[in-house]
Amino acid sequence: MEDSFRDWLAGFRREATAEGLDCAPLDGLEPLPEVLQRDRGQAEFTLTIRDYLDRAVSPERLAEGRRQGQARCGLLTEITARFGVPAEILLAIWGLESNFGVTRGDLPALRALATLACDGRRRAFFEAELRAALRILSAGDVAADEMLGSWAGAMGHMQFMPSTFLAHAVDFDGDGQRDIWAESPVDALASAASYLAAEGWQSGQGWAEETCLPQGVDIGLTGRETALPLLDWTQMGLRGPGGAVHAGAGLASVLLPAGHRGPAILIHQNFTVLRRYNAADSYVLAVGLLADGIAGRPGLRASWPAGLTAPSRAEMRQLQAALTEAGFDTQGADGIVGPNTIAAIRAFQRSRGLPPDGYPSAALLSLSR
Ligand code: CA
Repeated sequence: MEDSFRDWLAGFRREATAEGLDCAPLDGLEPLPEVLQRDRGQAEFTLTIRDYLDRAVSPERLAEGRRQGQARCGLLTEITARFGVPAEILLAIWGLESNFGVTRGDLPALRALATLACDGRRRAFFEAELRAALRILSAGDVAADEMLGSWAGAMGHMQFMPSTFLAHAVDFDGDGQRDIWAESPVDALASAASYLAAEGWQSGQGWAEETCLPQGVDIGLTGRETALPLLDWTQMGLRGPGGAVHAGAGLASVLLPAGHRGPAILIHQNFTVLRRYNAADSYVLAVGLLADGIAGRPGLRASWPAGLTAPSRAEMRQLQAALTEAGFDTQGADGIVGPNTIAAIRAFQRSRGLPPDGYPSAALLSLSR
């Protein structure tokens, strides 16, 4: 490993130096084998959406979120006034990303990024992040030995990748440095608000809204793929648990995170903005529900359906192969539920007279066994 790392590093330095980057922080850089172990050992997602949300939105995290919200009320009010992102959203992301700063990451970011770049599975991505990390050091925001992060290079309270830092980090306390690594979360919280604002966060709107699907509505219209004016949805009879829906102007979609038997969530632009932070609907649901809880709003009213499944990637690959075999092409069998797989599931469901929610339910999975 050492030889190939040295060769790769020499090549990277040549290119980065030619681009004008100061590569001195790479002197004597060694790989971090534990980073590759973590990269190889990423667990298949085996929690149901309900179990995942129960863990993410735990009573302890809710209580700590409220406590932090009270303790930092003045700071959060200032951040919201400047960027338009509500305090509870920032607190929720902080809680999920680093448990309110407790797990900010203690690995040297340069070594972690260089190890992953050399490994080659996502070389272009990690080489770009390593360049961004060198730029951060040149800008003087942090010293190389204090630029710490988690194994995949996400850094500080809000787990920013270096490129996100360069684009969005702010020096909110005005001490001349954008410091997302320090014990104090002031710059980190403001930087996350800056990021979400730049991605188009709509001030004054929530993250999403629970809704009730009226009888007879076309289930095929649900999912992020279909975005309609809110008026279209209300004309179809869509209502909130308390009556009207409030999601405001713009286009909205209806998400069924556990299929047509479970909760229905009306989502709009702010949900999409939160997906920029982590492109998983389950993550955004966790942020939103944690934020609601911190702000004292009620949780989901609809209950999760019985018999929820958490298909492993192997099970999903099996299902994709079976659907494709049956004439519903999933465009490959990678074990990941993407748009093509959802479309194939919907087409299959329609052909059988089932509600076309595109959800890989237990009944659907059993068809491929
Ligand atoms: Ca600062």
